[in-house]
Amino acid sequence: MQYRPAGEDGRAIAELVAAEILLAQARGTWPHLKTCANLACGVCFYDTSPNRSRVWHDTKTCGNVSNLRASRARRRTG
Ligand SMILES: [Zn+2]
Repeated sequence: MQYRPAGEDGRAIAELVAAEILLAQARGTWPHLKTCANLACGVCFYDTSPNRSRVWHDTKTCGNVSNLRASRARRRTG
């Protein structure tokens, strides 16, 4: 399948993104597309885990930072 945007510049990009979203929804891949749970990061990634449970784009960077913060908060209140 081939398609082209009808608009130009930013509008063309928005049209292509909308077309890809519709295709992803039709193919069932849309739920795999996620944004990292670290708000300071914001990286988009494709979750390939069997139950789509990933929340960090990279556990070693964003996941460890978040887990360390939670651990320190528990120590302060505990
Ligand atoms: Zn991240």
